[in-house]
Amino acid sequence: MAEETLYEKLTPADFESRIKATPIAYLPLGTLEWHGPHLPLGSDFLQSQSFFIQLAKRVGGIVLPPLFIGPDNMKEVNGAEYYGMDLTKHVPNPPQQLKGSAYWVPNQLFSDLVEAVLKQLRRAGFKIVVAHGHGPSTNHFVKNSKSLGKKYDLAILTIWRNKHEREESTEFQYDHAAANETSIMMALHPDLVHMKNLPKDKKRPIGIIGKDPREHASAKHGHRIINVHLNRMESILNEQLTKLRSQ
Ligand SMILES: [Zn+2]
Repeated sequence: MAEETLYEKLTPADFESRIKATPIAYLPLGTLEWHGPHLPLGSDFLQSQSFFIQLAKRVGGIVLPPLFIGPDNMKEVNGAEYYGMDLTKHVPNPPQQLKGSAYWVPNQLFSDLVEAVLKQLRRAGFKIVVAHGHGPSTNHFVKNSKSLGKKYDLAILTIWRNKHEREESTEFQYDHAAANETSIMMALHPDLVHMKNLPKDKKRPIGIIGKDPREHASAKHGHRIINVHLNRMESILNEQLTKLRSQ
């Protein structure tokens, strides 16, 4: 079986052998979005994409290119659109458009797009889809996994644990550019994290939601989060595959 896990790099023969062995598609749900002055704009998909590559090396399956558009809260003021982190309480009033954000689509458009993607993946032969990344996009999958799974004959999962089992500090991508996401980025893409860009004074940088990354983020914590979920997802997916093979 080809070692390559990225969909776009597989030849049809490599694709065939990988999907035959393990019919899992991994979909990184991104944004191009302000993630503080210290993290890159593609942080949402960089985290899930790198995690999925590691998971696909353990379990098998194929990693899709990231979706960089997604839903979020949106407000129009004097003809200008403000969304996501533009609207948090850390942002002065009237809101400002944070630099680099370019991802927002209405819920219905995102929902239609997700359905089109799932339909194509089922047609291509996948039986399990794991989607994860940007919070509101991931939530769309959490909320609709059962009905979409039924409609397209797929098992649909995210990396988040069930609501009552979630732990804020060790969930995967569970804040916004704060200690959780910054730690994961430090572990997966240390060269892309620029802690020196964060202010030195007590003032909280705008558009960062969660524990202060200046005090609580570390690569060690990031590796801990990643290992928890690699192990969890490996056993969840192996269970699903056993079920599939016995059908
Ligand atoms: Zn994020």
